[in-house]
This record gives sequence, C-alpha cells and structure tokens, in this order.
Amino acid sequence: MLKFSVKGSKLLVIFILTVIVSGSILTYLSISNISNYRELLEKKVSEEQAEVTKNFAIGFQNNFQSLTLKCSDYVQNDSLQPINDLKDIPSNHGFINYVVLDHKGVFIKPYFMNAGFSLAPLTASKRYSEKLRLAVNHEFVVKDFKRAETFYFETLRAAVRASDSAHIYNAMARLYLKMNRPQKAFEIYQIILSDFKNTTNASGFPYVYFSIIKLLKMEEPSKDEAMQQLLLSFLNGLAEGSILLNESTEELLDNILTWQDSFQERANSKQIETLIALNKRKLELVNAYKSPIEALINNKLNTSSQAENTDFIILKPGSGDTNELMLFFKGPNKSMGFIIGLQAIFSSVIGAGFGPITKFEYELSLVEKTGTNFFSTTGLITQNEFSPHFEDSLVRVSLKNKEVINEMVFKRKVIYGLGLIIFLGIMVFGLYLLKQDLQREMRMNKLRADFVSNVTHELKTPLTSIYMFAEALHMKQDNADIKQKKYTNIILKESEKLKRMINNILEFSRTENDKLSYNLELTNLTDIVNASIVEMNYFLEINNFELHLDLEDNVFAAVDPEGIKQALSNLVSNAIKYSPTHKKLNIVLFKRDDKIYIEVEDFGKGIPKDKLELIFEKFYRVNATENETISGTGLGLTVTKAIIEKQNGKLLVESRLGEGSTFTIVLNTM
Ligand code: ADP
Repeated sequence: MLKFSVKGSKLLVIFILTVIVSGSILTYLSISNISNYRELLEKKVSEEQAEVTKNFAIGFQNNFQSLTLKCSDYVQNDSLQPINDLKDIPSNHGFINYVVLDHKGVFIKPYFMNAGFSLAPLTASKRYSEKLRLAVNHEFVVKDFKRAETFYFETLRAAVRASDSAHIYNAMARLYLKMNRPQKAFEIYQIILSDFKNTTNASGFPYVYFSIIKLLKMEEPSKDEAMQQLLLSFLNGLAEGSILLNESTEELLDNILTWQDSFQERANSKQIETLIALNKRKLELVNAYKSPIEALINNKLNTSSQAENTDFIILKPGSGDTNELMLFFKGPNKSMGFIIGLQAIFSSVIGAGFGPITKFEYELSLVEKTGTNFFSTTGLITQNEFSPHFEDSLVRVSLKNKEVINEMVFKRKVIYGLGLIIFLGIMVFGLYLLKQDLQREMRMNKLRADFVSNVTHELKTPLTSIYMFAEALHMKQDNADIKQKKYTNIILKESEKLKRMINNILEFSRTENDKLSYNLELTNLTDIVNASIVEMNYFLEINNFELHLDLEDNVFAAVDPEGIKQALSNLVSNAIKYSPTHKKLNIVLFKRDDKIYIEVEDFGKGIPKDKLELIFEKFYRVNATENETISGTGLGLTVTKAIIEKQNGKLLVESRLGEGSTFTIVLNTM
C-alpha cells in the first residue's frame, strides 16, 4: 500500500520536471518571440517611413504645381491691378513674397533703383540757372548768407520741375545750418520730406535721403518728437514704395537705428525698429534676386520670344540660400517674380495631412543634403530627396516618440513575464497541493500498514494456540466419534488456512514497509523441503492428493528456513486450491551447476499465458469471479516472490491452461 506513496513521489518528481521543462520552454519561446517582435516592429517602421517619404514627395510636388498655377493666374493679366491682389495668395501655400519689374528691368515692387541710373537730361530754364549761380556764389565765395538766401528764394520761384525745387530746398536748408538757424533748416527738411518724397537728383539719388542724413546730425533734443515723426513718415514711405530704395538705404537705416539707440527713452522706438526691419527685408529680397534677374534679362533680351508665354523660369537667390527660389516670369511690360519658401511649402504639405495611414506616428523635418546622405535609413530614421527644385534638401522622417518601440517591447515583456509568473505560480500552487495530498496519503498508508501489521500479529497468537490444541485433540482422538473427528479436521484446516493467510499478510506488510529482511544461514534444503511436506501432508491427504517426491540428498544453501517453508507452503496450497479434478503433485529438488531448483508441479486448471506476468502482482487473482469460491487474497505469490528474491533467488512459472502449472524456486548454491 505504501507503494502508492512511492508512486506519488514519482508523480511529484514528474510534475516538478514538467514545471521546469515547460517553464524553460515558455521562457525560451517568450524571449525568442520578443526579439522577433522587435525586428518586426523595426521592419514595419522602415516600411512606413519609405511610404511616408514617398507620399510627402508627391504632396510637395502637387503643392508646388498648384502654387505655380496660382502665380500664373496673376501674370495672365498684364495690368498692374493683380499685383496689388497678390496678398490673396495664401502664404500657407508656400508663397512668401514677390517682385515686380518694369519693362526696363527696374524694380517697381519693392521700389528700388540704384543711383547713377540715367534719367532724362536736365533742361532747366535760363532764369533758374542764372539765379542759382548767383546764390551759390554768395553762399560759397562771397559768404554773404543773407544775400544767398534771397537768391535761393528767387531761384525757387524760377524752378519748374520738382527736382529743381527739391535741389534748391536742399541748398537752403544747408545755408540755414551755416547761418546757425537750425529751426529754419528743420522746417525746410520737413518740406522736402513731405513734398519731394520721390524726387531724385540728376544721378537718381532721392533728396529725402540727403535730408535724413542732415537731420540725424542735428543735435536739438527739443525737436525729438517732430524728428521721430519725420523718420516714421520716411520709413513708411520706403515701406509703401513711395520712396525708392537704393544701395545706400541700408546704411541710412543703420544710421537711423543708431540715432534711435542713443535715445532709448524716445517714444515710437518700437515702431521705428519694426519699419527698419521691414525695409531691410525688402533690401534683402532685392539683393538676393537682383543679379540672377539681371543675368536672365540680359540673356533673354536677345531671344525674347517669351512675351505670351506664362511659363516660369526658376531662379535661385544670388545668396546661395537653398531654402527658397523664385518663379520668374518675363512679360513685355512688366516682369514678375514669386518667391517660394521651402519651409512654407513643407508646412502646408504637412498641414494638409498628406500622410498614409500608419501604425506609428512620425515627424518630418527638412535637412540639408551632404555628399552622402541623399538616401539613408539608419536607426529608424529615413532621409530622402523629394523635389528637383530643392535638390539641396532632404526630408527626414523619424518616429515622433523615439521610445515607442522600446515601450512596446517592454509592454510585451511585462505581459509575457506576468504570464510566466502566473503559470509558474499555478504550477507551484499545484505542487504545494500535491505535496499536501501526498503527505496525507503517506500518513494514512503508514497508519494502515501499522494497523494491518498489529492486527495480524495479534490474531496470530490466539490462532497458533487454537491450531496447536486442535492438532493435539486430533492426534489423541483416534477412537473418538466420527463427528468429533470431522469437526477437529475442519478446525485444523481452517485455522491452517487462516495462519497462512495471516503470515502472508504479515510478510506482505513487511515488504511494503521495506522491513522484510532475512538472516541467511547455510541450511540443508532437503530437510527443509521434507519438513514442509510433512506439515502439508495432512492437507494433501484429506484432499486425496497423489504426491510424488524426488529430492536430492543434502542440498545445502544459504537461506532462511522459515521463509522457504512459507514459500513452499504457499505453492503447495495453491496447487491444492487450483487443481479441482486432477489431484496430483510433483515436488522435485535438485542441484544443477551452481543453482538449486525446487519445482512444484500440479496438473490443475493452469494459468492463461497472458496472465502469467500478472499473478505476481499484489491482490491479483486470475478470473476473480470464477475463482470466487476458492478462497484467497491475491497476496500468496506476491509474498512468495518477495521471500525468494530477498534470498537472492528467483521464482519462475510455466503453465498450460487446463493442463497444469509448474512453479520453480531457483536458489544459489552459496
Ligand atoms: P490467491 O490467494 O488468489 O491464491 P496467489 O497470489 O497465491 O493468490 O495467486 C494468484 C492467482 O494465481 C490465483 O488467484 C490463481 O488464479 C493463480 N494461481 C496461483 N497458483 C496457481 C496454480 N497452481 N494453478 C492455477 N492457478 C494458480
């Protein structure tokens, strides 16, 4: 019975091994699955990035084209009207500025003309020239400023053209400064600045520029506010295009800024700074495209067949800036250039949601192309070219959340880890339950075994007495009456059966508890077999058995005599039990080579071939129902086999169904 617990502990070992093996397999699978998972995600990212760059390039191209179409709408109409409407082109399409030039290639918007540009020749009146000569003479040679003033007034009256008047005003202001009449000079400059905004001298230089230069040099704080108003109106004039820009504008703007800076507390400084910045940008615009436009106009003038054509020529800024370009159209009356900003188109493409539907979120940016990076995919970043017009730039696509892959892998690790922990937890819990169960089972088994062993032991003592006294009675009752003899016979037979049964149970219990051990002593086996037969003879007789003995003399072996007796008594008793008709028994003892054989042969019902292995199993009985009438526990052969094996021997069986069986005990000689 305790064997069950041994089996149980085997189960436990199997269970633990299963836990370890399946845990390891699961861990291995999880790890390989996770590394596969990372690879898969990274592959997905680069595929999506390729798709995103492709879509971006398409979006960019479309945007550029629609911008070109919009600009061409403006140049279709050759009047000046649309120029003012250019504001309508939404800047978020990528349009950042524009220029307009007249038929001679002079900038109209922004209004820009370099000094030295040839103007119409001067044709002043004779009277004007005469008076001017007198005035200048009195100012510079005679140094009679009063008279000079009078002559200048007269000259002014003789002036016809605006440029002549402006020229005289300018001279008069100069004169007043020499006469130390700054107030007067200031007033004159005011006149020039308000009435002669667009008037230039013979070399195309605006008189207002002279006025501003002089005014900035005048130091009269009382005039600050009035001065600021003048500067504001000058800067506004530049910004609106009513005063022209030229190469010296930049320096002039810087001077204004210096003037402004030296008097921080002056009001309007912010406004002035803004206007200066605005005008500087206009100058930058002109500077950037002046030379490419001039080069284009000079080349194209000879092959001018472009009048009706609204195709644009793409100009790159002279500054080498790669972030913008100009769509330039040269018309018969005016030319126009639209400046397109890379960043602006980029933003509009991104804003329009160009992208394909992707698993991950990406961010796009523009990077400058170097010698080798025109296409690259490294570290989950893809860079690629996207437009022939901006060939120096690349679009760079990278993950918005750079850690997203690590995060996803981590999440999966956590899930797998948890799964594994839960799995192992359940396993460990199972183990715990199994252990509890086994321990209980083992305790119970021990109790049962102890109980059986105790009870059988207790039974044995009174039974031995019963048997002994019954035997004594039987011996002495030769002349007793038949009935009494019959009864003592029954008592003897049944108590012998009981005794063997108890012995078997006791031995079995010992085997199960692993307590079966023998003190082997060199014994004469012939005597032992004989003694056993004497003990059993009585039963053979009353069962009418024919016994044949063939025992070799003085066969010695190291055995436990009581054990051998019990084994033999079990075999003989089985032969009696399972031989219902042919009641014959052969017992042979012989020695061959270094082995001793004790054969017990009967001619009874025999054992089916397929059951031969099973009969030695505990509790096993062949055809239990059929044998129901034959008493037995199914322990006899189990115990016999254990007894023999404990004495280094073997128990063999041969049997033919219906013909009989032979059980052979094989022992070693020494
Ligand atoms: P039991 O108490 O049933 O005799 P055993 O362990 O001694 O138990 O024998 C097991 C079974 O083997 C028996 O039930 C019987 O069917 C079969 N068996 C044992 N000895 C013989 C025999 N000599 N002839 C036929 N069958 C036998």
